[in-house]
Amino acid sequence: MIRGLHHIGIAVADLEEACDRWLTATGGTLLHTEIVEEQGVEVAVITVGDLRIELLRALSESSPIAKFIAARGEGIHHLALESDGVQSELDRLKAASFRLIDETARPGAEETRVGFMHPRSLRGVLVEMVERR
Ligand code: ZN
Repeated sequence: MIRGLHHIGIAVADLEEACDRWLTATGGTLLHTEIVEEQGVEVAVITVGDLRIELLRALSESSPIAKFIAARGEGIHHLALESDGVQSELDRLKAASFRLIDETARPGAEETRVGFMHPRSLRGVLVEMVERR
């Protein structure tokens, strides 16, 4: 079941500079930074009240974040919805003919399990589902 918004993912070219900007603009808190090799990104997690923002920097030119920035520039990359069972969501969506990027849940930041739907499934919005351990 989908429980609500987990975070907003924002693609950035310079993680340190983007962090400074966001923290100054919002008065938020930097929780931590982490490299997620499976997704080819370095992530900085910021909280602003209940809102969680993940700033994403590409680790290489082949990273999806590098391709996104090359095509569209920096900005909102995806919305992440919290689920209590990512694999069952993916199975349900596949059965309902939604186009998926991941048919199998995979490791995300902070020891979560994640799965992405294709943006063509939801009117141009890339949606991630996140399951906390
Ligand atoms: Zn995310």
